[in-house]
Amino acid sequence: IRAARQAASDRDGDIEKALRPSQFEAFAGQDGIVDNLKVFVAAARMRGEALDHLLLHGPPGLGKTTLSAIIANELGVGFKVTSGPVLDKPGDLAGILTSLEENDVLFIDEIHRLSPVVEEYLYSAMEDYRIDIMIDKGPGARSVQLTLSPFTLIGATTRSGLLTSPLRARFGINCHLEYYDHQVLQRIILRSARLLGVECTPEAADEIALRSRGTPRVANALLRRVRDFAQVKGNGRIDPEIARYSLEALNIDKHGLDEIDNKILTTIITKFNGGPVGLGTIATALGEDAGTIEEVYEPFLIKEGFINRTPRGREVTDLAYRHLGHIRNRRPTD
Ligand code: ADP
Repeated sequence: IRAARQAASDRDGDIEKALRPSQFEAFAGQDGIVDNLKVFVAAARMRGEALDHLLLHGPPGLGKTTLSAIIANELGVGFKVTSGPVLDKPGDLAGILTSLEENDVLFIDEIHRLSPVVEEYLYSAMEDYRIDIMIDKGPGARSVQLTLSPFTLIGATTRSGLLTSPLRARFGINCHLEYYDHQVLQRIILRSARLLGVECTPEAADEIALRSRGTPRVANALLRRVRDFAQVKGNGRIDPEIARYSLEALNIDKHGLDEIDNKILTTIITKFNGGPVGLGTIATALGEDAGTIEEVYEPFLIKEGFINRTPRGREVTDLAYRHLGHIRNRRPTD
């Protein structure tokens, strides 16, 4: 069973890669960011220089990896991918940095999870394109300076609050990716359907988009599941009826909220009478990290009008009560 599951998730991973746009033109939404990046990329190309180091932050699945690969492609340079937790020792970082060719892009996902030693090494690499590494241990130990080719570091993080200020200061460009509205997600779904070779009506794409939690990765994953239903239970074509049927069968929340979103709202309602309640208290009640709630979950709940941030803490809205089928217990002061 495990092997079958692994094979299925590998397949999903492959499909996800196949759906990844490789040019700015095919990347939908985030218009302000993309317009600026086009200018910076064109300027770096004209000068034949490496693009400035770039920090991309925002919740998972919004296109940080995709955008980075597009940048490398549009710059016409190589693209190497690694992640904070993988770069365990300074030697790992030295290995990857010395393998870069002139003006290449190095993408470090989850850059907030770099170990402090590795991060320290990264500073001089980013600033002066050189690193000092220690060779040998004990009496024979010596430091060797390695000169690197100019390169661009693109760091991605879901938790920009965890970045140290010296690291943050070394990025010349800083972009925050926002959740997508459903019209843009609808376009992404229609494009993916075309690439998957499945017919999908605009109305059906809209149904899927509305439940995608503002996130392209979720939209593509739902599309693949709906495609399965269309193939087995329908005639292969994705129309609004089969889309609604599949989303129902998949138990997808009609506002696109996921399990943790719903848990956050339910906790504020049942344990704290709807709030206001401090973030730390909510986090403790949920057994979650306060920063993760603040940077990964809450922005969507606020954007969709389920939570308000008040000076006294977080408060759920009437919409949250209605959505979860709870009756609001008005306090005498309300
Ligand atoms: P992140 O790195 O932020 O977690 P990814 O770049 O891995 O997100 O994106 C997840 C998936 O969503 C990718 O497979 C990609 O196909 C799709 N995707 C993300 N952003 C866009 C976009 N703006 N347009 C089209 N597809 C997108």
